[in-house]
Amino acid sequence: QSFNDLNLVPELIEACQNLNFDKPTPIQASAIPPALEGRDIIGLAQTGSGKTAAFAIPVLNRLWEDKQPYYACVLAPTRELAQQTKETFDSLGALMGVRTTCIVGGMNMMDQARELMRKPHIIIATPGRLMDHLENTKGFSLRKLRFLVMDEADRLLDMEFGPVLDKLLKVIPTQGRITYLFSATMTSKIDKLQRASLTEPVKCAV
Ligand code: AMP
Repeated sequence: QSFNDLNLVPELIEACQNLNFDKPTPIQASAIPPALEGRDIIGLAQTGSGKTAAFAIPVLNRLWEDKQPYYACVLAPTRELAQQTKETFDSLGALMGVRTTCIVGGMNMMDQARELMRKPHIIIATPGRLMDHLENTKGFSLRKLRFLVMDEADRLLDMEFGPVLDKLLKVIPTQGRITYLFSATMTSKIDKLQRASLTEPVKCAV
């Protein structure tokens, strides 16, 4: 199977070629087709499996048809992962004029607020700082969010983020939203999270 067989927009196929992605990795081959059909996804995959592109490709493919600000939000447990994920979106979205921003702790709130006012399409965030902006940055909301991705969800729940995540899920609308949950392990906490936040998800494991 190649990326050509996946029914992606040409800009994404070309971006994959530019990145020397010859063919989808197993998690990509299993998650991308149902994701392109608009299904919610649970991806069980480790770092290094190509999981980032497994969710970035379907998000970008859909964004291309419907380019709206605050289109997708990816929650990541660490600043480093958020930054790497932003880089993956930037390189895969390079031919699409996609604007991305990283909203993580330890950076200046005002600078981030200015970034958010430029209406990026994709926000990659750690939960605490995102909540901070939702509460304090005027004009910023996720009311029109189309995609929510919880990446490394086991680690999102492990850390001090659990309560913040609950709070975020309460303020991010569910209506019309597509949700992806990626995790290295499937625990009872993850199961509870997926029941609370996903709709008839397709389980993709490798
Ligand atoms: P990840 O698991 O998302 O951290 O990705 C691990 C590494 O695999 C990254 O350096 C990606 O650029 C690379 N990668 C992702 N998808 C593919 C692919 N289809 N072919 C080759 N390399 C890939």
